[in-house]
Amino acid sequence: MRNLVIIGSGPAGYTAAIYAARAQLEPLIFTGSSPGGQLMLTSEVENFPGFPDGVLGPDFMDALRRQAEKFGAQIVDEEVVGVDLRVHPFKISTNSRVEEALSVIVATGASAKWLGLPGEQRLRGKGVSGCAVCDGYFFRGRDVVVVGGGDSAMEDALFLTKYASHVTIVHRRREFRASKIMQRRVLTNPKINVIFDSVVEDVVGTNKLEGVVVKNFVTGERTHLAVAGLFVAIGHEPNTKLFRGQLELGEKGYIRVYDQTTRTNVEGVFAAGDVRDPRYRQAVTAAGDGCKAAMDAEKYLESLAEKEGIRLPA
Ligand code: NAP
Repeated sequence: MRNLVIIGSGPAGYTAAIYAARAQLEPLIFTGSSPGGQLMLTSEVENFPGFPDGVLGPDFMDALRRQAEKFGAQIVDEEVVGVDLRVHPFKISTNSRVEEALSVIVATGASAKWLGLPGEQRLRGKGVSGCAVCDGYFFRGRDVVVVGGGDSAMEDALFLTKYASHVTIVHRRREFRASKIMQRRVLTNPKINVIFDSVVEDVVGTNKLEGVVVKNFVTGERTHLAVAGLFVAIGHEPNTKLFRGQLELGEKGYIRVYDQTTRTNVEGVFAAGDVRDPRYRQAVTAAGDGCKAAMDAEKYLESLAEKEGIRLPA
């Protein structure tokens, strides 16, 4: 039996592992099918304090992983496929094992959203992409569209200018949601133009993307853009499928936590990072949350040991 199992390996999961390992809780961390989480799909992280010259997302995640390992966290590259939080100790299953744990930290993060257009999924990997950093290289010398008005869309558009001959951003409102610095970089980049008040209404192409249909909300006009790539950057939804019916979910399906802690409605289960945060969703806030979750778990385990006379596994 484990003191603590951490599910997820973004900044929240690894930070929780670092703190819990240093508290001698000997945590086990299941990294999931995408070890390192969303930052593995980012290029430069410029806003994490302590890195004045920026740091590459994958390098940063590798450093966090090594830091967790250094203090004795056990890291397992497996995906959790089931949890039972109705029993205590809790049960956490992957395809190859079932672990029992006195406490659990959920740090499963969030996944990219899609537009939901007919043909969008069929053309994924054939011109339609959710990851500019992964797929941008395939669009050398081609025209591409990015959908969205947040920091991700700005970052994707700027990244794609390294490869594409031209980048068009399609955004559904007149103002971007992105930070001012990112907006400025986009609006002053000669390889980027923006179509506001508009949505991508259709994708065109049978075996590969040949273009998109853009509809302007104000004029009602439809325009066909001949592009080889469509990059969808319209935000994320929390990865909570495993916990439905067991953990209470709040706004937009994010896990609900209580009293400005990381405590969920199930005693002994804590939630940290993007899976419980519809508002800030930053690497640094997720890391802070991971720290809080480890401290909350430690307190819980101490009180459990006191109350029930359980001797915590060393
Ligand atoms: P976001 O801030 O939620 O922005 C999503 C954008 O997509 C919004 O502009 C939204 O439009 C649009 N959108 C949502 N659903 C849509 C739909 N069905 N059709 C068309 N457009 C749609 O998400 P994000 O850009 O992924 O950023 C998430 C968080 O990560 C933010 O806190 C952001 O600051 C952070 N982030 C930071 C950096 C950085 O600092 N370098 C990089 C990436 C992300 P509306 O504006 O009309 O709602």
